[in-house]
Amino acid sequence: MRIALFGDIHANLEALEAVLADATELGVTEYVCLGDVVGYNADPAACLEIVRAMNCPTVKGNHDEEASGTHSLDTMNPVAAAALEWTRQQLSEEQRQWLMRLRMVRQVMDFTIVHSTLDQPANWNYVTNRFDAMANFSYQFTHICFHGHTHVPRVFVKTDKVQEVVADSIAIEPGAKYFINVGSVGQPRDGDWRACYAIYDFDAKVVTYRRVEYDIAKTQAKIIAAGLPPMLAERISEGR
Ligand code: ZN
Repeated sequence: MRIALFGDIHANLEALEAVLADATELGVTEYVCLGDVVGYNADPAACLEIVRAMNCPTVKGNHDEEASGTHSLDTMNPVAAAALEWTRQQLSEEQRQWLMRLRMVRQVMDFTIVHSTLDQPANWNYVTNRFDAMANFSYQFTHICFHGHTHVPRVFVKTDKVQEVVADSIAIEPGAKYFINVGSVGQPRDGDWRACYAIYDFDAKVVTYRRVEYDIAKTQAKIIAAGLPPMLAERISEGR
């Protein structure tokens, strides 16, 4: 059985469609969403409806939370706040309710999913080094935990110590724990503009990253046409 783990879609419809087509082609039958379905880009409602119709396990991201609330966005960075303000107007009350009701943490088969970290999921901490990963491992009771949030694909492994492993494909060994960032579908920040997600081959116990090209010019034109901050169109082509 092959499971696609995808998240940080951020309202990028072209990237989401390309990822789902790639997964289908590779024989994926199960899907799991790591959150941040909306925010930044120009197709929040369309992306939300696709993910909702898939009826797959989905956890809440910080942008999902902000977009479904009505509180002030003054403390956020101005570009993200402008995009979220716009996103709120694009979503129906019912769509906002769906986002609001997403859970923070879920267990799926033999793994856990969370948008940021298991130690304080509602604090939206970023995992950028092995010390951040250690804090998560204290609360990780499954073999594997998949997450997102930094938009950078990255793997930390805990054996007798915690270390980062750099590889496009990771063999899951018994006796070790894995904290795997699946990267971002709609706004990668590792310098590669292509949509990123991961496939977990449940029987072979292998996790493989995928990078998928999509019609980025179309996505950028929609961002500009929507009146969103132009830097949001620039950054997706730089993978930043
Ligand atoms: Zn995100």
